[in-house]
Amino acid sequence: MRILVVEDDPDLGRQLTSALAQAGYAVDLATDGEEGHYLGDAEPYDAVVLDLGLPKMDGVRVLERWRAAGRGMPVLILTARDRWSEKVAGFDAGADDYLTKPFYTEELLARLRALLRRAAGHATSALECGDLLVDTRSGRASVDGEPIKLTAHEYRVLSYLMHHQGRVVPRTELVEHIYDQDFDRDSNTIEVFIGRLRRKIGSDRILTERGLGYRLIDPKVDATQ
Ligand code: CA
Repeated sequence: MRILVVEDDPDLGRQLTSALAQAGYAVDLATDGEEGHYLGDAEPYDAVVLDLGLPKMDGVRVLERWRAAGRGMPVLILTARDRWSEKVAGFDAGADDYLTKPFYTEELLARLRALLRRAAGHATSALECGDLLVDTRSGRASVDGEPIKLTAHEYRVLSYLMHHQGRVVPRTELVEHIYDQDFDRDSNTIEVFIGRLRRKIGSDRILTERGLGYRLIDPKVDATQ
């Protein structure tokens, strides 16, 4: 999953990007409203953390422009204390959730997990596909109760496939959702990650749909499809 952070406070921006990266997300940081608007318009983020008080273009305007252009990704707004009217404007512009500064990073992470799983139609932070389990809260995965060790990129690939299980995920879509902007993207490495994941979770769980992409299945249920 890939997150955009739009925050002009350098300390908070750094703190958020490192906490999100640590939690297993690919993260891009924009430090003003114009850059933030551009990135959110051009790149397919799974969620956005958007400060409302921003230079060049304020956060409410950024959000209004995304929504007017049909960008529907979940957006969590950050507002200053005592600015209730800002919150109202943010929700009216299309925000999905908010946090008032100062906040605990843990709460931001929990709210983001909730937004991501709701957007993908899941009710809890533990994603299941048969006996394959990914707990997005702890960042851990297991098969039949046995923990499996994943690298950061393997976790991102698996977590994205788990959020979108049952449907074919094109390789280009995976590339766009597991790397941040500055990463040297090579779609061939996706095949490498998929190969390693298959060795760790079982080769029959990720199907390759020729020319289309990958589909995560429960082999015990989907074997005949
Ligand atoms: Ca600000």
